[in-house]
Amino acid sequence: MKFVHEPYQPGDTIAAIATPPGEGGVAIVRISGKDALICAAKIFSGPIQSYKTHTAHYGHIRNKSGETIDSVLVLVMLGTRSFTGEDTVEIHCHGGSLIARRVLDVVLEAGARAAQAGEFSFKAFINGKIDLAQAEAIQSVIAAKNEKALDAATNQLQGKLSMLVQQYQSELTHIAAILEAWVDFPEEDIEFASMEEVSAELKRVYTSMEELVATFHDGKIARDGISLCLVGSPNVGKSSLMNALLDKERAIVSPIPGTTRDIVEDSLRINGLNFTVTDTAGIREADDSIEQEGIRRSRKAMASADLVLLILDANKGISPEEEVLLSEIPKDQTIVVWNKVDLPHGSLQALDAPHAVMISAKEKTGLKDLHNAIDSVIWRHGPPSREEVLIANVRHKEALQSSALGLKRVEAGLSAGVSPEFLAFDMRQSLLGLGKILGTDVGEDILSSIFSQFCIGK
Ligand code: GDP
Repeated sequence: MKFVHEPYQPGDTIAAIATPPGEGGVAIVRISGKDALICAAKIFSGPIQSYKTHTAHYGHIRNKSGETIDSVLVLVMLGTRSFTGEDTVEIHCHGGSLIARRVLDVVLEAGARAAQAGEFSFKAFINGKIDLAQAEAIQSVIAAKNEKALDAATNQLQGKLSMLVQQYQSELTHIAAILEAWVDFPEEDIEFASMEEVSAELKRVYTSMEELVATFHDGKIARDGISLCLVGSPNVGKSSLMNALLDKERAIVSPIPGTTRDIVEDSLRINGLNFTVTDTAGIREADDSIEQEGIRRSRKAMASADLVLLILDANKGISPEEEVLLSEIPKDQTIVVWNKVDLPHGSLQALDAPHAVMISAKEKTGLKDLHNAIDSVIWRHGPPSREEVLIANVRHKEALQSSALGLKRVEAGLSAGVSPEFLAFDMRQSLLGLGKILGTDVGEDILSSIFSQFCIGK
C-alpha cells in the first residue's frame, strides 16, 4: 500500500465504492477529504454546500456534459463528525456495479482521487477517530464468520481492549514516575512509595496482562473455528453422526465396512461457533492399498484436529483395536461417543477418557449432550461471555507478552537492588510495547501490512 510510505496528506480527497460488488438495492460511493463538498457540488443537482451536516438530500448526479447519470440520495457529514474525521459525502445510488462505477467515475472526474485499500480507515486512524486496535477490529467485524467472533470483534471496535491497554499504560506511567523520582532524588529521603508497594503493583499489572494473553486460546477459536475429526472402526456410525451433526446427507452411509475411503470435510455451526468436521476412513488393519492410504490420512487428520470424536458401537462394546486407538489419542481433546444406544447394549464400560456421551446417530438422540461435551472440551474456562475482551490477534498477544516480561524484569531488578535508572528504562520499554497495540510507535511497515488487508472503500 503506497500511501503510508509517502508523507501522507491528511486532507487529501479520496473516493471509492463502499458497498460490495454485485447487485443490490443501493450502492454507496464515499468521498472524504477537505474538498469532498466542492467535488460533490460539481456533480450534484442540489445546493450541497449549503446543506447542514448529517442531512440527506435527494437529487441527480450529472457528468461534465450535464448528462444525468443516476438519481441518488446524498448524505453530508462535515468536519470531524464523520468516520474519517474529515468532510465526507456519501452518494447512495442504484445498486448495480456498473451504475456505481459510473457515479464513481464522475466523482473522480470532479477531482477526487481513487482511494487505496483501507484508506478511509487509515484516515480515521491518523485523524485520531480510532486507534490501531479499533481499526483492526473493523476488519474482524466484517470478516466474522460466527457469533462468537463477531462479539469479540465488536468489543474491540467499541474500544474495550483499548481501554484496558490505556489503563495499563496509566498504571505503568505511575510506577515509572516513582522509579524516575528515585533516580532524581536518591539522597533525599522522599518516600514516594515503598519497594514492596511498587513490586505488588507491578505484579498486579503483569498478572492482569497475562490473563488477557490467556484469552488468545478462546479468541483464536472464536475467529478461526474448530477442526473436529470423527474417528472409529468401520461401521460404528461415523458418517451417520456426521450427517446428524450437519443435519443433512453428506457422507455416504453404508452397512459395508470401509465405504468411507477418503476424508470427507464439511463445516457446521454449533452454539455460535464454526466447525470443520472431518469424517475419516474407518481405522482398522486393511489389506486394500487404497483403504490403507485412507487410514493413513485418518491418523493424520486426527493428529492435527483440535477435537477428536472417537465413535464406538454400544451394541458391540470396545474392541482391542479400539482400545489401542483410544490410547493413541490426546485425552483432553477427545470425546468418546457411544453410538447406537437405540440397539440393545450392556452397561457401557468406563473408559480412560474424561469425556464420554451416549447417542444414537440414527434416532438423533443424545446430540445435545454431545454439543455440551464439545463446549466443555473446547472452552477451557467455560464459553466466553459476550462482553469479554478476547485477544485474537498475534500482534496484540506478542505486545502484551513482551510488556509483561519487561515488568517481571523490573520486579526482579527491584529485589536484586538494580539501580532505579535501569529499571525506569525497562518500564519505558514496556510502555512503548503497549503503545504498539494502540498504534503509537508503530512503523510504517506494520501500518502498511494492517491497512493493506482492507478492501478498497473501507
Ligand atoms: P461408518 O462406517 O462408521 O461411517 O458407519 P455408517 O455411518 O456408514 O453406519 C454403518 C451402519 O450403522 C449403517 O447401516 C447405519 O445405518 C448404522 N447406524 C449408524 N448409526 C446408528 C445408530 O445410532 N443406531 C443404529 N441402530 N444403527 C446405526
